[in-house]
Amino acid sequence: MTDNELLQQAKQAMQHAYAPYSGYKVGAALLCADGSVYLGCNIENASYSLTSCAERTALFTAVAAGQRSFVSLAVVGGQDGDLRDFAYPCGACRQALSEFCGADFRVILGKDGGETKVTTLGELLPGAFKLVQEAE
Ligand SMILES: [Zn+2]
Repeated sequence: MTDNELLQQAKQAMQHAYAPYSGYKVGAALLCADGSVYLGCNIENASYSLTSCAERTALFTAVAAGQRSFVSLAVVGGQDGDLRDFAYPCGACRQALSEFCGADFRVILGKDGGETKVTTLGELLPGAFKLVQEAE
């Protein structure tokens, strides 16, 4: 599974985004260690705070299916699905990912024109909150 293949799956997932309030559509594709991929889209709600992000939708779907080991996450998003800019995971999603993923977990961002950016969870969320601190 290449980064571009994972980004393509994230774009497919974005087609299912439910964003009638903001119009900001996001898709995510989470690659598991066993090679399987779980998709997510953002799902808004009339009670705004109940909205779920694409990244957490993908993560929670994967965990609910028994997955615990993850390799990378591709994310695309934009207003009305326009991918002119990279769509970074929000702080809540970074923290949720840190429950299962280490600092070297890859986050792949894509936008129109085929431009991609690869970063890591460690770069996006240094000093992640953990109930049990790992030895450094
Ligand atoms: Zn989020």
